[in-house]
Amino acid sequence: MKRFRIYSIQNKISIVFLLVITIVICSGAFSAYSSKHYLFFARRVADSLTPKIRQTKDLQQAATEIKGSSRKLSFSSSSKSLRKVYLSLTNSLEKLEKLTSTLSREDSNLDIVSLNFLTQAIRSQTQLVFQLMAQLLKKESRLQGLSNDLQNGMLEVITLDFRHHHLYTEGDYHDLLHTVVEKNITMLQQLNQDNPPITASDISRMETDVEGLKAAVTGEQGERGRVIERIGVLVNNINTQTGHVLKIKQECRLIKLRIDTFNCTLEELTDKLAHMTNQYIDLISENSQKNMALLLKRERQSLSLAAGGFILSLILLYLLHRRTIVHGFANRLSLISQAMRQGTAGDKNLALPVTGRDEIADMARAAEELLKKAKKLKAMATIDELTQVYNRRYFFQLAENIESRSARMSASAVILMFDIDHFKKVNDSWGHPFGDKALYEFAKACKEQIRAVDIFARWGGEEFVLLMPDTTMKKGLVAANRLRETVAAIELYSDSGQKVLLTTSIGVAEAKLPFEKISQLIKKADEALYMAKEMGRNRVEVYQVSGKSPH
Ligand code: GH3
Ligand code: MG
Ligand code: MG
Repeated sequence: MKRFRIYSIQNKISIVFLLVITIVICSGAFSAYSSKHYLFFARRVADSLTPKIRQTKDLQQAATEIKGSSRKLSFSSSSKSLRKVYLSLTNSLEKLEKLTSTLSREDSNLDIVSLNFLTQAIRSQTQLVFQLMAQLLKKESRLQGLSNDLQNGMLEVITLDFRHHHLYTEGDYHDLLHTVVEKNITMLQQLNQDNPPITASDISRMETDVEGLKAAVTGEQGERGRVIERIGVLVNNINTQTGHVLKIKQECRLIKLRIDTFNCTLEELTDKLAHMTNQYIDLISENSQKNMALLLKRERQSLSLAAGGFILSLILLYLLHRRTIVHGFANRLSLISQAMRQGTAGDKNLALPVTGRDEIADMARAAEELLKKAKKLKAMATIDELTQVYNRRYFFQLAENIESRSARMSASAVILMFDIDHFKKVNDSWGHPFGDKALYEFAKACKEQIRAVDIFARWGGEEFVLLMPDTTMKKGLVAANRLRETVAAIELYSDSGQKVLLTTSIGVAEAKLPFEKISQLIKKADEALYMAKEMGRNRVEVYQVSGKSPH
């Protein structure tokens, strides 16, 4: 199968350029596509992240609010402020519930069950604390009222005692009364300061004193009796109220204890909530960081791919430059110069395998034309047109080469001079064109008989010369006779069909060692030819030294 080869540099350049442009376009398109893709991805990440960040911020804010409000709940001093705190707390809880339900729809990463549980637990704890606090406040306000009444009662006892002390005499129940009053004063102080707390034994001791007092004054009449009875009633009331106060205080203490317990749980729950929201925020930020890292990685990859494509195109362009332009042109130029050398060297055919449509191919074709013309000119300058053998000028040129070579090698050479006999007659008898044809046939016949190394040329007119390098006289003579016979055997026919025969006289001369000058040798052969003519033609004569001098 014939191998397909692209010789045209333009074609190669076009193909490589096409390839480079395709790679550049492909890598550009890929980079544009990936950039667009990653941009879209980044936008999506940002879009999904922004509400999430806002939500997590809200979540955290709600958790902080809940924590703050739950703390405030147990420090409320009035039912009004308690209600306010409770309202803001339930608001925050509702906000948290809403956020939780939104997040549960959007994000599976959030532990929604735990969050719901926490919210509900906080809500129920809050309600409990709120109810207890309300109860506590109510009891405390009642306690306040009772305390006021108690204080009034006690003050009245003290006032009565002070106002009517003139009614008592030393030694009777005066001491007992004063003990009761003093104890009252102490209890009043205790009640105001709550330190040390009034206990049930204090009250029972008071009761005993009052009972003693009562027993002492039984049957007393008049103002003294009324005062003491009033004091007794008052102390009894005080005792009862103090008992109530103590009971309520006890209840309040219990409620406070429960509130503290619930508050502890609430605190734990809100801590958990804050922890959970923080964890969620951490997760979101971690995810966003991961996404951003992925995005950066992909962007970097696409950039390196585009850069790789660009570098590849540069390498291809470099290869194009090296292989196609530098090598391509250099190869073609070397082919042309080679062909030019071969062409000028002689007979070898021109070989310029440069085809296609580039400048070098055009140059090659032009060179080919020039070489053909040069070859033709050379042939014209060296070959005799009529006989197609070397002309006299070229004979000398070739002979000179042989002359110098033979001289160097000390080889012998023989020269033969031919002159066709009575050629004038041939012309006269059969016409000049026939003469021309006879000359051609003569040269052709001789050429066929000689060796490749021998140089046969037309000397002029109907005279020819043959130089036989590396030949002795003996061999030269054999060749001369054979040639003479060959010529004699040529059969020519005139237009009228008449057979015409040719004969030739040949003069032979041998070069003396060291080699003589060709011109000198020719003169000798010419002399021998002259001898052959003299001696009757159609014969071979050798140059004799004793013969006619060539000078
Ligand atoms: P000889 O035997 O003494 O050599 O007699 P010859 O007639 O050959 O000698 P001569 O030198 O007198 O004549 C040579 C003739 O060859 C004269 C010329 O017309 C003829 N001749 C020379 N060149 C050409 C040629 O190119 N074509 C033709 N047709 N004849 C030529
Ligand atoms: Mg002649
Ligand atoms: Mg002649």
